[in-house]
Amino acid sequence: MEKILLKNTDTGNSADINEYVKAGGYRGLSKALGLQPGDIVDEVKKSGLRGRGGAGFPTGMKWSFAIADPKSPKYLVCNADEGEPGTFKDRPILEKNPHLLIEGMVISAYALGSERGYIYLRGEYPRAKEILDRAIDEAREKNFLGDNITGKGIKFDLTVYQGAGAYICGEETTLLESLEGKRGLPRNRPPFPVNTGAWGKPTIVNNVETLSNVPSIIERGGEAYSKIGSKFCPGPKLFSVSGRVEKPGVYELPMGTSLRDIIYAHAGGIKGGKKLKAVFPGGVSTPLLTADSIDCAMDFVSMPKAGSMLGSGAVIVMDESVCMVRVAYRTLKFFEHESCGKCVPCREGTEWLRKILERVEGGRGRNGDIELLSDVAENISGKTFCPLGDAAAGVVAGMLKNFRNEFEEHIKNA
Ligand code: SF4
Repeated sequence: MEKILLKNTDTGNSADINEYVKAGGYRGLSKALGLQPGDIVDEVKKSGLRGRGGAGFPTGMKWSFAIADPKSPKYLVCNADEGEPGTFKDRPILEKNPHLLIEGMVISAYALGSERGYIYLRGEYPRAKEILDRAIDEAREKNFLGDNITGKGIKFDLTVYQGAGAYICGEETTLLESLEGKRGLPRNRPPFPVNTGAWGKPTIVNNVETLSNVPSIIERGGEAYSKIGSKFCPGPKLFSVSGRVEKPGVYELPMGTSLRDIIYAHAGGIKGGKKLKAVFPGGVSTPLLTADSIDCAMDFVSMPKAGSMLGSGAVIVMDESVCMVRVAYRTLKFFEHESCGKCVPCREGTEWLRKILERVEGGRGRNGDIELLSDVAENISGKTFCPLGDAAAGVVAGMLKNFRNEFEEHIKNA
């Protein structure tokens, strides 16, 4: 497949604006500024683009809600806070193709009537911060950002805002709290950010990969773009593949590529010729799949039918030698640490789950611990303020459903 998101990123200097322009960059912007804002929204709707942050909400529809709101100013926020274990798919865009993101944001801002944008960047990406800041300066110098973009009288400017390393700030309402300078805690919804977002104004929060698709949609047209990938979820998709594979990395493939192909045809198969045991197909917050269930198309419609979710497209591969009790313990340690503490089932429950898993994994498991794990997970699930609690409970439930024998053996041999 022709690369769209990682196009020309193999060259050493792909983040430089001159290289980007030489390779055809900012052509989508030039075409977009000759269109009416409503035409751009129509093209994005025709393209079938769905948000790439994990939820898969249709982008054109999300934009329409914000446009329909008469309040102003309107803000455009790029969510670059990928913080889940195994998720690093946006990083190559941020570090190697920052002008693609900037171009996508300028086009989107023009369509939405926004004059001010923010890139909310995860705290652990200092290199991306430097690169983005430099790219924004370059774009201003060349008149692709500022008060009179390409002499057309269009106004839009951008600021990179670096988070402080909290996973929960990847959730859009929490991100907005943090952007406003407050502690990162999720907000009640409704009202939704498209109507009441940053500083109470209509705010569109889109993921890095989502916004980076916009230049190509405008350049080739929504209809042509919709022919890439799977029928109900068009476009290219970035998959970050990690764990026990021969060639971990980020792969740009058509949406709907099978999980088996991602692991075996692209990531080189299981390391050392071992057998596959299990996969988190879309990050640790998506339900685990076992080795016999990887013949599924990786898109937002097919994955729920296969018993999991596409999530962010972070494929984490475990081979036959991996201890699933240890995976469960390490994952719950992460969720306990990242729980913001706002609601009791998650704040207390993740700590309980981690403590029980720690003793089972450490050879100190007790009779009744499996039932206790199930009970605590059930009492978290569906009772928390944001999806983090459900994700933590889901990991434990998935492990007990598929690998209960490993937990029983740990306890028996304690
Ligand atoms: Fe915070 Fe966890 Fe409740 Fe989400 S589920 S609001 S992370 S305590």
